[in-house]
Amino acid sequence: YLSLNPKYTFDNLIVGNNNKVAFQACLAVTENLGKIYNPLFIYGDVGLGKTHLLHGTAYHVLAKNSTAKIIYTTADTFASELFSYLEKGMILEFRKKYREVDLLLIDDIQFLVGKERTQIEFYHIFNVLYSLGKQIILSSDQPPSKLNGIEKRLISRFSSGLIVEITKPDLETKINITLKKMKELNVEFSRDVVLFIAKTVNTSVRELEGSIKRLKAYSEIMGRPITLDVARTVLKDVLEVNEVQPLTVERIQKEVCNYFNIDIKELLGNSRNKKSVTARQIAMYLSKELTDESLSSIARYFHKKDHTTILNAANKIKEMMEKDRKLKYTVDLIKDKLITL
Ligand code: ADP
Ligand code: MG
Repeated sequence: YLSLNPKYTFDNLIVGNNNKVAFQACLAVTENLGKIYNPLFIYGDVGLGKTHLLHGTAYHVLAKNSTAKIIYTTADTFASELFSYLEKGMILEFRKKYREVDLLLIDDIQFLVGKERTQIEFYHIFNVLYSLGKQIILSSDQPPSKLNGIEKRLISRFSSGLIVEITKPDLETKINITLKKMKELNVEFSRDVVLFIAKTVNTSVRELEGSIKRLKAYSEIMGRPITLDVARTVLKDVLEVNEVQPLTVERIQKEVCNYFNIDIKELLGNSRNKKSVTARQIAMYLSKELTDESLSSIARYFHKKDHTTILNAANKIKEMMEKDRKLKYTVDLIKDKLITL
């Protein structure tokens, strides 16, 4: 019952800055099923290659051992399957099916949110497989800690192995993916068009692929190669969506909250715990450095009356970054995310 997309192999996967760790983790897992990173939890936004990576992993395991028992499914399909087995009074068969595998891959585990019956069943399957030393790989659009609506005990299981993120590809990776997809689709673009596509599409690899397909269709219809001007016209809507949005204080606040895994209330509140204080000061520093807002306007975004609060926080961070390498690294990381988004 293994249905995989034949295109989603490791050979067709470009490994870049954004998915290197996730890819290496999957590769390591295939060498040591159930023995090292169990479960392996991969998360990232839509269209960044989670499904491709999961299918590729399944293929890779099969290539080494053609008799390995593998199930790949999505949490959604898992849930509907459970209910059809329940309706037929065949819950034992359902359990047997899932408890016999060597490798269980469940894609889009966020679809377990709110499905209590399914969560209970999955919890037991998880425990059985885990205690038998069978490998579990999960994907999600959120890290475990953000999966509200999934039982605590499941979240803690999800977090007990290795958690890796797939992020957006950088320019070099996007160029490599574009070249790979061109080969797959059997289409040629000039270098400036390739660079234009890679620079323009910033949302996801899926959209990158879609753009290449559109340009290919145009070139076929017109019967000649795509020029840069034509590419600009064809991808006009993509260009608009991806137009660099001005960096706002709100976006900085959101990104900092994401990084520290705290919510905006905590960032804007008065909590004195170390994490919130650092997060708050970094957000203030970045707002001062990266936006054109005045100090008093930034202060309003942080619900502070006095603009000197911003100035003091910014100076403090600046000073600390000179001594504290870890802090500098953190700030640079957040800055990178803000600037390349
Ligand atoms: P997700 O499951 O994260 O939403 P998918 O795995 O469905 O994303 O990927 C979307 C599309 O982008 C697929 O066609 C996939 O082949 C392609 N893709 C994503 N990442 C890569 C990559 N690193 N190299 C090659 N193709 C990729
Ligand atoms: Mg997917």
